[in-house]
Amino acid sequence: MREIILIKLGELVLKGLNRKSFEASLVRNIRHRISRFGNFDIRVSQSTITISPKGDEDLDEVAEKIGKIFGIAAFSRACVAEKKMESILSACGEYLSGDLNRVKTFKVESKRSDKSFPLKSPEISAEVGAYIMENFPHLTVDVHNPDLVVMVEVRDFGAYLHGSSLPGAGGIPVGTGGKAALLISGGIDSPVAGWCMAKRGVELVPVHFASPPYTSERAEQKVVDLLTKVSDYSGRMILRVVPFAHIQEEIMAKCPEELFTIIMRRFMMRISERIAVDNGCEALITGESLGQVASQTMRAIACTEAAVDMPVFRPLIGMDKTEIIAISRKIDTFEISIQPFEDCCTVFTPKHPRTKPNLHFVEQAEQKLDTDALIEECVSQVKLVKIGYYHSPA
Ligand code: ATP
Ligand code: MG
Repeated sequence: MREIILIKLGELVLKGLNRKSFEASLVRNIRHRISRFGNFDIRVSQSTITISPKGDEDLDEVAEKIGKIFGIAAFSRACVAEKKMESILSACGEYLSGDLNRVKTFKVESKRSDKSFPLKSPEISAEVGAYIMENFPHLTVDVHNPDLVVMVEVRDFGAYLHGSSLPGAGGIPVGTGGKAALLISGGIDSPVAGWCMAKRGVELVPVHFASPPYTSERAEQKVVDLLTKVSDYSGRMILRVVPFAHIQEEIMAKCPEELFTIIMRRFMMRISERIAVDNGCEALITGESLGQVASQTMRAIACTEAAVDMPVFRPLIGMDKTEIIAISRKIDTFEISIQPFEDCCTVFTPKHPRTKPNLHFVEQAEQKLDTDALIEECVSQVKLVKIGYYHSPA
């Protein structure tokens, strides 16, 4: 029996004139994400995307990936029957027998978008219902609160039958919300921040500041591993690794110790903005959450933000750590984030950071540094790492 995946579009259907381009982005994202599992025919019609394997491709892995693509409200695995009542009935008995045997109550819902099919929707439901009652005598019909809804959809290219839908990842398709540079550390927060913005359609350009020889290869690999998890949702991306040790040494040598963190953050923002502009991004994203640490007080955030002109998105700003951790577990980054590898920030942490830095003093302290030259030096040494790129199967 031929099996396909049916995808119901989420918020997409609300987007009026933009709808076509949203659909096109979603289809492109789906194609990218599943191409390594084989050859699939992907079509859009009547607010539904159908994914049909061209050969005997297995749908288990495909379904897992589909559940992580933004812009999808719900999806189902369905079997395809010929558009004849006897084919629909026998497909129902065969394909849904497992589901029907597991439940006690059911109802049938039908949709007939192919109006040339001789039976109307209520008539299709009645026939399928009667067939199920006869072949699965333990079942009763419950139209208000059934354990299982059997869906029959008679569409252009066939009749589709399925049981309950699976929840999609929600959100809107990545790429439709612009591009932004994600400042990613090896911590818990920034991968979650990236996921939140990707959910709102933003394509991510991740930037990581590494401080070899103070930080290790493993610390950098940790960031690659985190982003690989995020890329299941956000799609593939290219990480920019920025060597940061020289700037940190300069700040340490020439600026007051209590301003070290804030000045370092301002450099991170400036360099990220440079990389963002060079790569067509229109905003920066950080994993800051108000009051979580000394550098995330309102005053400190204002000082950091003053270093750049671009909008800075902080999707976690009003979240508790427990809420952030819950998302990081859901997207499977938590266990990676808690691995103990030195981060560039922890290596140089001052003993008593300023929680209420004064922008004027910070700017004065920075006068001792050759900001432009330091930034140029960093940007010229950026290393690129591809994340989530797969070769098509041979
Ligand atoms: P995270 O869990 O994301 O590391 P955090 O609570 O530890 O966040 P900080 O270390 O103060 O907070 O960092 C605040 C934000 O600054 C991070 O969420 C991230 O966006 C950015 N950031 C921190 N360190 C780095 C780094 N090494 N490379 C890139 N961005 C960084
Ligand atoms: Mg951190």
